[in-house]
Amino acid sequence: MISPYPEFEAWSQPPAADELRLIPIGGLGEFGMNALVVHSARSLFLVDCGQLFPSDDQPGIDSIVPDFAYLEPFADQLQAVLLTHGHEDHIGALPYFLRRWPVPVYGTAFTLGLLEGKLKEHGLDTGLLRLVKDYGRVKVGSGEIEAEWIPVTHSIPDACALVLHTPQGVLVHSGDFKLDPEPMDGRTTGMARLQALGDAGVRLLMADSTNVGRPGRSPSEATCYKGIEAALEQTKGRLFVTTFSSNIHRLQMLVDLAYEFHRKVLLLGRSLDRNVALARSLKLLDLPDDILIDTKDASLFPRYELMVLCTGSQGEPMSGLARLLRREVKGLPMQSGDRLVVSARAIPGNEVSISRMLDQAERLGAETSLEGLGPVHASGHGSRDELADLIKAVRPSHMVPVHGTYRNLRAHGALAASLGWTPEHISLLDGGLCLRLFTDGRVELPGTVPVGKCFVHQGVDHMVDARVVKDRLILQEDGVVFATLLVDPLSGDLAADPTILSRGFVMLSDDEAYGDLLSGVARRAYEEAPKVIRKDPEALRDAVRLALRRIIRKTTQARPLVIPMILEAPSA
Ligand SMILES: [Zn+2]
Ligand SMILES: [Zn+2]
Repeated sequence: MISPYPEFEAWSQPPAADELRLIPIGGLGEFGMNALVVHSARSLFLVDCGQLFPSDDQPGIDSIVPDFAYLEPFADQLQAVLLTHGHEDHIGALPYFLRRWPVPVYGTAFTLGLLEGKLKEHGLDTGLLRLVKDYGRVKVGSGEIEAEWIPVTHSIPDACALVLHTPQGVLVHSGDFKLDPEPMDGRTTGMARLQALGDAGVRLLMADSTNVGRPGRSPSEATCYKGIEAALEQTKGRLFVTTFSSNIHRLQMLVDLAYEFHRKVLLLGRSLDRNVALARSLKLLDLPDDILIDTKDASLFPRYELMVLCTGSQGEPMSGLARLLRREVKGLPMQSGDRLVVSARAIPGNEVSISRMLDQAERLGAETSLEGLGPVHASGHGSRDELADLIKAVRPSHMVPVHGTYRNLRAHGALAASLGWTPEHISLLDGGLCLRLFTDGRVELPGTVPVGKCFVHQGVDHMVDARVVKDRLILQEDGVVFATLLVDPLSGDLAADPTILSRGFVMLSDDEAYGDLLSGVARRAYEEAPKVIRKDPEALRDAVRLALRRIIRKTTQARPLVIPMILEAPSA
């Protein structure tokens, strides 16, 4: 994608004394990879540091994290990371970030608990984690900026909005939120505090735009109760439920209902085991005695006495549910009379794998239809009226929609406009666009700073160059063609006809005539190369590659990866 914005030319210069920069290096114009740089002459820190899950057109990639190029010129000044909540799109890049910048990380208990597990998995030090309580305040780095955590309702415990008290004014970052009037844990969004901040004057509001397209209010978490209750009433066999393992309130509801219906609960999936243990240790999850049973004991209970909670709501191939559907879980077959309930939304891009998973469950005889059940999932993000309520409570001088596709951000800007905010007071940021706030009240958008995506191959736990991903796509589409040229080291002439070998390319391996054609083209490219190029192995390879690519495209329309190898013939 070509950026329609100019470059912020002075980005690598430190901010002026009266300036504060806000730079989303991910999370805008896309879902996932949320990370906001906050930078002034005396402060430099991040709000959230998330990852993006790869899509089908990024083969062999396990995770995508932001490119932190903007931070490099200021590498020795980084002070902290502040976290709003523990979802992967907000904390998932930290193992990679902390390796480069081991700075303190501030967050609430459940957020840090999730992060701690993640860091341990990566063999990283957990000594940098700093616990913050609801309404807690922390002076960041030099102490010039004070951060404050305000509770919000969301689909994970301990989620917070973040307030930054800065010399440029008070900034409010909503984090991911909804305004659930009756959350399972009774911890409602701190609207009174937000209102009080609004009364005193807020310079800027950055707010979650995810569900701006939905009218009215987001249904309360409590509304799922009826749907799941109906599923239990209507299921004679085992009830399988898959949901996000960090959605502790949903898990609490499921377990409570299982208890009511005299069913035991079985957990299937590593992250469920881990998150349930964490939530219990923090007293965020209250399980009746002996309700959990082990997989190996499943066959001891009649089928109508079991509820199985599993990971894999997005069709992930290594999840508990996927293993179950492949019949890899002993003693726990899915069969006729059973029911599978997906108590989660489909993250855009996962629809195909989810549909495949439902198909497989039906093939095994289970019921997957939600018809007649009522809602079994409630979104963790606020709808239009809730977003409007936040704007009206905070009444910022300046409004910046965040978290969502560019269309979401625009719609959120339009919502603010409908509430009376004029265009000068609404800024649409996009990935990498820098917003400058000055103490005298000026707001500027000077252009973009370097941003991008880094690809992670988890097996080796290191970054993969974007070119590797591109090569994999080419290989997948059009295959690869190798051309081997043997050169006589004395005369510099070719010692034999170039040999052509291909894999996954349209040319059939036994199509000799076509092989000869390519061989001839490679020979001509070599022989016609000027002397200077002949002496430069890299330029020579490029010349041969170019000639082959041209003829291949002309004759087949394909664009395979072309790899010329120029070798010295062994002397006779
Ligand atoms: Zn999020
Ligand atoms: Zn979230």
